[in-house]
Amino acid sequence: MPQAYFDAHDHLQNFGSDAELDAALRAAEAAGVQGLLCCGTAPDDWARVLELAGRYPSVRPAFGLHPWFSAEEGWLEKLEEFLRRMPSACVGEIGLDAAKGLPGQEENFALQLALAGRFRRPAVIHCVGSWGRLLELLKKADLPAFMLHGYGGSPELVRELAALGGYFSFGGELADPKREKLRAALAAVPRDRLLFETEAPEPGPDGRSAGPADVAAVVAAAAGLLGLPEQSLADLSFENAKKFTGETT
Ligand SMILES: [Zn+2]
Repeated sequence: MPQAYFDAHDHLQNFGSDAELDAALRAAEAAGVQGLLCCGTAPDDWARVLELAGRYPSVRPAFGLHPWFSAEEGWLEKLEEFLRRMPSACVGEIGLDAAKGLPGQEENFALQLALAGRFRRPAVIHCVGSWGRLLELLKKADLPAFMLHGYGGSPELVRELAALGGYFSFGGELADPKREKLRAALAAVPRDRLLFETEAPEPGPDGRSAGPADVAAVVAAAAGLLGLPEQSLADLSFENAKKFTGETT
């Protein structure tokens, strides 16, 4: 059976043109990518994410206010409306980012965690340098599931986050032997919580613009590090993605 992949985090709305996006999605399909999670970041791009989810059956949408855009106003009602219009949508990309600390960031994050809890939607979380605060807020939240996208926390923290129901998504940085802490974190994640991502079209560590097809290389790198057959890890992470998004059979 050919391998099936799921790209757990990307931003298809950021491709330069429809032609580029079409080519990237064709390449992804040829590589076996059967699903992907396309994350909105601000009210400006939610309509585009919704449109792409309607156009491409493999695209699962997420709507959320990214911590970099905390200065937005009047977004909460609009976010509720998008979540209502698309019952399969996750809440994301949301989170905390100490590197770009902006007023309102934490309040916005807490509001969106509450919304995800109320609508019973999985949350896609970005966290940079705010792990203690993140943990406190997640302990108070009541989410059906959450994912730490591009996980950059410590291996030690994995256990606590996993106990709260967390999934952990890793990208192409895994291929870099210098990323020892990241590789140790990968090894610490319970196998049934592992996810992989490209953050396409963001350029990968090699500077080349990524497409969702690149998730196959991420899975291959992780399989090598974990000492697992590539096919097993592809299957496992695909099943994990289905569980995360609530598509469990
Ligand atoms: Zn992102």
